[in-house]
Amino acid sequence: MRTLLVADMHLSHDTPELNQGFFDYLEQTANGADALYILGDLFDAWIGDDLLDTPHPLGDVAREVIARLHKLSSDGTTVYLLHGNRDFLIGQRFIAACQATLLSDIEEVELQGMPAVILHGDSLCTQDEAYMAFRQQSRDPEWQAQILALPLDQRLALASSLRMQSGDANATKADAIMDVTHGEVVSLMEHCGVTTMIHGHTHRPKVHDLTVEDVPAKRYVLGDWDAQHGWDIVVEKTDHTAPRLRQFPLSDPPSS
Ligand code: MN
Repeated sequence: MRTLLVADMHLSHDTPELNQGFFDYLEQTANGADALYILGDLFDAWIGDDLLDTPHPLGDVAREVIARLHKLSSDGTTVYLLHGNRDFLIGQRFIAACQATLLSDIEEVELQGMPAVILHGDSLCTQDEAYMAFRQQSRDPEWQAQILALPLDQRLALASSLRMQSGDANATKADAIMDVTHGEVVSLMEHCGVTTMIHGHTHRPKVHDLTVEDVPAKRYVLGDWDAQHGWDIVVEKTDHTAPRLRQFPLSDPPSS
């Protein structure tokens, strides 16, 4: 009885080792789990599900991701996915092809009986005002429809320019503005009535202790994957169920 959570794989056609590492993780680690939650930024960029109809190399990667997730799901692991700030254009077609379930941006869940709130994490980075404005615009269905109506090459160009200005947090931007706003974290946990939050996005893997309504709480931050290492959180049903944050070499992902 275990549940796994991952985020920020940032798969692309430029990352063959990483892609293979993720596929090995699905086969060796996720297979046999009750559920796998993908908390956003599965892809480094996604510009519309019609990519699946094109011979573009990102389409090739996506078709393999679909085959692998579909197999995991068929073998009995429930696959959940929520949007990241890079792949928010993933649509129902992609989700259905994976035999996965698309969650809303902020989801209250029970992980092996433990209540938690899960999210990508970008919505908590409220000090980055430029990004918050972009985020609001990019989640507007009309804006999305306009983008999806553009020819594929224009959308690919747009994706790479957005990537540069997306306000995507990483370790080299060691700036408080790129991290979550503590007050946002606390108020969301209060709102959801939980003492556990799990997210990715900031690429600052860590377990944070905090207090929510005078009660000890924990915020788990997943790490981003690279060609050598992956990160996950495992929640196993025990007497004292608690999430565990793990880093592992992609050459040897955990066997459970
Ligand atoms: Mn992100």
